[in-house]
Amino acid sequence: MKPEEYPSHDRVEIALAGRSNVGKSSLVNAIVPLKRLAYVSKQPGRTQTINFYALDERLCLVDLPGYGYAKVPRKLRESWGPMIEGYLRGRDQLRLLIALVDARHGPTSDDLTLWEWARGNGPELLAVATKWDKVKKSERAKRLREMREALGVEPLPFSATSGEGRDPLIQTIRSLA
Ligand code: GDP
Repeated sequence: MKPEEYPSHDRVEIALAGRSNVGKSSLVNAIVPLKRLAYVSKQPGRTQTINFYALDERLCLVDLPGYGYAKVPRKLRESWGPMIEGYLRGRDQLRLLIALVDARHGPTSDDLTLWEWARGNGPELLAVATKWDKVKKSERAKRLREMREALGVEPLPFSATSGEGRDPLIQTIRSLA
């Protein structure tokens, strides 16, 4: 998707990025009641594009295409990279980038590539550790520490299944309005 195809509106945008299967759609569905999701722009059947969801008159969630399908990092940079970078670099109303990391595995090299790049170039960053319900209670402190060390920030544990982390995430998003 090219910049000229982005919707034109004054809403503050909150972008979500993560590797495929990280739980991004589940997170969107958990924080936004499905019937209230208004697509400002969505190309049906195309997951490898940017989808814009108006939350209200002031906020818009931006679902960036999942990365990591391509095993080869170069392929990632060639196809996924330019679309994401183009958006992250050029979008004035982007206020927050939420980077999703699978809590069971910690950040992948693709996650770290995005994180390192976004830290120097983009908006405010929030790391969310998804599928938190799948991490054994006895391992949670260690997992959080590992993610904190890898990313340099404290991740927010989140589970679409149990609802943990949902309220703080919604509050963070709402506070941007
Ligand atoms: P996406 O590709 O990033 O949009 O990922 P999906 O939201 O489609 O989720 C990928 C898989 O992980 C699906 O099988 C989901 O049911 C599962 N999943 C997503 N979120 C959670 C979660 O919080 N807990 C658990 N246990 N499974 C989850």
